[in-house]
Amino acid sequence: MNSFVLANCTTVDGALSQLRDGAVIKAGGVDLLDRMKIGIEQPSKLVNIRSISGLRGIHQTDSGLTIGALTTLSEISEHPVICKQYQILSDACGSAATPHIRNMATLGGNLLQRIQCWYYRSADFECLRKGKDMCFAFDGLNQYHAIMDYGACPAVAPSSAAVALLALNASVELNSTKRGKRVLAVKDLYVTGEDDPTKFTAVGPDELLTSIMIPKPAIGTRSAYQKYGEKESFDWAIADAGVLLEMDGNICRRAVITMGAASPVVRRSSQAEAVLSGKPITEANAWAAGKAAMEGAHPLSMNAYKVELFPVAIYRTILLAAGQMDRDPSAAG
Ligand SMILES: Cc1cc2nc3c(=O)[nH]c(=O)nc-3n(C[C@H](O)[C@H](O)[C@H](O)COP(=O)(O)OP(=O)(O)OC[C@H]3O[C@@H](n4cnc5c(N)ncnc54)[C@H](O)[C@@H]3O)c2cc1C
Repeated sequence: MNSFVLANCTTVDGALSQLRDGAVIKAGGVDLLDRMKIGIEQPSKLVNIRSISGLRGIHQTDSGLTIGALTTLSEISEHPVICKQYQILSDACGSAATPHIRNMATLGGNLLQRIQCWYYRSADFECLRKGKDMCFAFDGLNQYHAIMDYGACPAVAPSSAAVALLALNASVELNSTKRGKRVLAVKDLYVTGEDDPTKFTAVGPDELLTSIMIPKPAIGTRSAYQKYGEKESFDWAIADAGVLLEMDGNICRRAVITMGAASPVVRRSSQAEAVLSGKPITEANAWAAGKAAMEGAHPLSMNAYKVELFPVAIYRTILLAAGQMDRDPSAAG
């Protein structure tokens, strides 16, 4: 790891004033320090925001919830209001990584973590996303990569929380000395890197993500998130799904279906949503929605299995959200 200056900040203004000349924000540090240890990033200064108390906490407002960027995944997954009204988010935060990591990892850092492509994560491969001219995944080991929407880079969206927050129509507040405050919808937070492959999000190097805002769900909303990984204990998703159902009695008035590990940025499936809207949630409809979500899939040489796995993930998450399946996946049969 390179040597660097550590600027410990206790206020937002203090942190913003440090964000120049290649300085990088450190929240929990789980992802950033990983990148530094494997040698793919060598910042000269880390702006440690972990002690800014104003960026922590979960607050109910008239319009919904505001979550400070430094709130940990554990705090979110265990919060009683989130467990009751925003189950999709408690599921997503509670199933990411391990209990130890969830105690360190912040929601802001989770949203802004970088891709897990092993070519990107190795100092031995000078790939497109590091500003070079080649992607090794298309002709290489691509079993964990995207099956849809990929352009020049098929690495998938890594954040579980983003899958939930996209479904919840959340937005983030960004703060910078030059630009002031701006609010960005989670659907506009990520970029595929087609214009600039070294960019992963719409957040500028001078910007601090301060909070995440989630609108109040409509009456009758039920939701869930499920993640399928190669290991049960801890791993990023190879398939995951977020489901939000606005129910009118037995009928689904509106459905939102989101996926993470299918594509380079988190996506909604309008095809799957159309299958459920105006219909009762039944096993047959849930399965049809899962299959519909795979329209437009173009798997790579080693990941056709994902085209089979995603419909199962979506089917089960729909039934879970509708209360037709046990929350313990091992009891789901
Ligand atoms: C074994 C393992 C399994 C994992 N499994 C999963 C999983 O299943 N699902 C999942 O979602 N994640 C998973 N993760 C990733 C982990 O959840 C993230 O690394 C973690 O959430 C990052 O949060 P952090 O606070 O440590 O971010 P940091 O490492 O501090 O920061 C991450 C990035 O965001 C930037 N940043 C952080 N906060 C801000 C801010 N407020 N404003 C602007 N920029 C900011 C940093 O500069 C950095 O580039 C796993 C990690 C490990 C090690």
